[in-house]
Amino acid sequence: MSSTSPNVGVSILRTLHRIHRQLADLKERLDRGPRQVRAVDANVKRNEDALEKIRAEAKVLRVASDRKQLQLKVGEDKIKDLRRKLNAAASNREYQALMDQIAADEMTNSVLTDEILEALEESDAFVKNIAKADDTLAAVRQKAEETHAEVARQEPLLRADVDRLEAELRGAESDLPGDARDLYKRVVRQKGEDALAVVDNQCCGGCNQQIPLNYCNQILLGQPVACKTCGRLLYLPE
Ligand SMILES: [Zn+2]
Repeated sequence: MSSTSPNVGVSILRTLHRIHRQLADLKERLDRGPRQVRAVDANVKRNEDALEKIRAEAKVLRVASDRKQLQLKVGEDKIKDLRRKLNAAASNREYQALMDQIAADEMTNSVLTDEILEALEESDAFVKNIAKADDTLAAVRQKAEETHAEVARQEPLLRADVDRLEAELRGAESDLPGDARDLYKRVVRQKGEDALAVVDNQCCGGCNQQIPLNYCNQILLGQPVACKTCGRLLYLPE
C-alpha cells in the first residue's frame, strides 16, 4: 500500500479524470477546425462548379441561337432572291414553282423565328439563374473566409490550453502513489480518456455495472481499484 493518505489518491483520480475529459474535448475541437474548413471549401467548390455549369449551358444556348439567326438571315435573303426571279419567270409553271419554293422557305423561316424567340426567353431565365448562382457563391465564399479566420484564431488558443492541461496532467500523475500510478498508466494506455470512472450509487460511471461492496471499501481505503467489467480505474464522488 502507498504511504500517501488515501484521500489524496482519491482526489487526484478525480482531478485526472477532469483533465482527461477537458483534453479530449480540446482535441475534439482542434480536429473539428480542419473539418469545418474542408466542409466550407467543398461548399465553395460545389457552388463554383454549379455556376460554371449554368454558364456553359447558357453559352451552348447562345451559340445555337446565333446559328439560327444566321440561318434566318440566309433564308430571308433567299426569299428576296426568289421574289426577284418571280418577275423574270418565263412561264406560269416556273412562276408557280417559285411561289411554292417561297412558301416552303417562309414556313422554315417562321419555325426558325419561333425557335429564336424561345431561345431568347430561355436566355433571360439563364441570366436570372446565373445572377442567383453568383450571389449564392459570393455568400458561400464569405462564409468560408469567416470560417477560415475563426479556425485560425481558435487554433493557437486551443493549443495553449492543451499545453497547459498536459502540464497539469503530468503534475497530477506524478502526485499519484506508486501502486496506483502503475495501474493508472496501464489503463490510460489502453483506454485513453476513458481510463477513469466515478462510482455513482455503487455503480461504475463508465459502464453502469454494479460495483461489489468490497471494491467500494477498497476505494474508500484509497486502494487503486479497476471496474471488473470495463476496466476503468474507479474513484469516489466528492
Ligand atoms: Zn465499469
